[in-house]
Amino acid sequence: MAGVLIIGAGGVGQVVVHKCAQARDVFSDICLASRNIEKCDRIAAQLKRPIRTAQVDAEKSAELIPLIESFKPDVVVNVALPYQDLAIMNACLKTGVDYLDTANYEPRDEARFSYLWQWAYHERFRDKGIMALLGSGFDPGVTNVFTAWALKHHFSEIDELDIIDCNAGDHGQPFATNFNPEINIREVSARGRYYEKGVWKETDPLSETMEFDFPEGIGKRKLYLLFHEELESLIKHIPSIKRARFWMTFSDNYLKHLEVLKNVGMTRIDPVRFNGQDIIPLQFLKALLPDPGSLGPLTKGKTCIGCLIKGNKDGQPKTLYIYNICDHRASYEEVGSQAVSYTTGVPAMIGAMLMVTGVWRGKGVFNMEEMDPDPFMEKLNIYGLPWQVKII
Ligand code: NDP
Repeated sequence: MAGVLIIGAGGVGQVVVHKCAQARDVFSDICLASRNIEKCDRIAAQLKRPIRTAQVDAEKSAELIPLIESFKPDVVVNVALPYQDLAIMNACLKTGVDYLDTANYEPRDEARFSYLWQWAYHERFRDKGIMALLGSGFDPGVTNVFTAWALKHHFSEIDELDIIDCNAGDHGQPFATNFNPEINIREVSARGRYYEKGVWKETDPLSETMEFDFPEGIGKRKLYLLFHEELESLIKHIPSIKRARFWMTFSDNYLKHLEVLKNVGMTRIDPVRFNGQDIIPLQFLKALLPDPGSLGPLTKGKTCIGCLIKGNKDGQPKTLYIYNICDHRASYEEVGSQAVSYTTGVPAMIGAMLMVTGVWRGKGVFNMEEMDPDPFMEKLNIYGLPWQVKII
């Protein structure tokens, strides 16, 4: 029986809380804390069992450390924003509590995605005897575990990895993002980057495309190459990989709006002086756009996220596609959130569950592919994200 402190009452936080509350035999005590306690209380009111709620600015150690000390969780699940990662890791180090997140640290003033800042905590976590599990969402997260599982059971060596993320859902809004708009737009507007034969190659934003025929009625969709953080950890931990790329679908409508917003300067992350005060255009844009949490009742269709893996088994060439299909409507009916939040929140709960039950243990800072994939894969099937494998 374990206590979990969940930080961040957004779209993903809502799913993590629901899923932890369902796993009553593991998570005996749940606290949801966020900048705005009303959001925590709204989520708490949806549950069949009582949880605690708290107001916290996770970037203020004077607020976060006393909260951790008073609640005494076994693990802190960070589903606030990537900006808070290091502050929450610092508080975990100070209080001796395990840490989990779903997105790597980003500095506010630079759209740069790298694990280097968090990997630098490894020795301090190890010396304190605690564990940090990084990127326990879907991508990163399940995609790392899919790759590790494929290596364990199907390949002698992996040569090529394409992570393919399709959101075939429709929310009916002219322009909205499925997770935090600021983080989403920073990620999509950044230059593309992929790994090939030992070097990183850069591309102009959204300039590389391919088509992929998705299963289960989704059909052919156009994909755009992006940099995504799991590429950085996977090529480190699975060094046989010679090429690693990440692809995502976008609707023409999304891309049309994004282009205009970029051209007029609304996606800038540097301060602009307006009416006597500094504003960050992208943060102002976030305030205008629909809250991703509000898209749940509006979104129909499916997501399909998976890995296309090429390599060899005992010298014979092999290609494998492993994926999950998640239905937006079914996610909403279960936990009140659309599938992008659901596919992130369920793996966060599973990662926390494996940590607090002692199945995934380690001292230091770890990425998902460093752990045994089998118990995680088993729990995906149990907790709402069943997967399929095709040998091609
Ligand atoms: P939201 O913006 O919906 O939620 C973030 C929540 O964190 C909000 O409730 C926000 O509070 C709260 N928050 C922000 N700053 C602080 C702070 N300083 N202290 C305490 N709480 C704070 O985002 P999502 O739920 O869509 O995303 C959550 C995380 O999940 C992000 O890091 C995102 O990158 C990650 N993600 C990972 C994916 C994966 O597959 N690995 C996929 C999708 C998302 P307030 O309400 O006051 O703004």
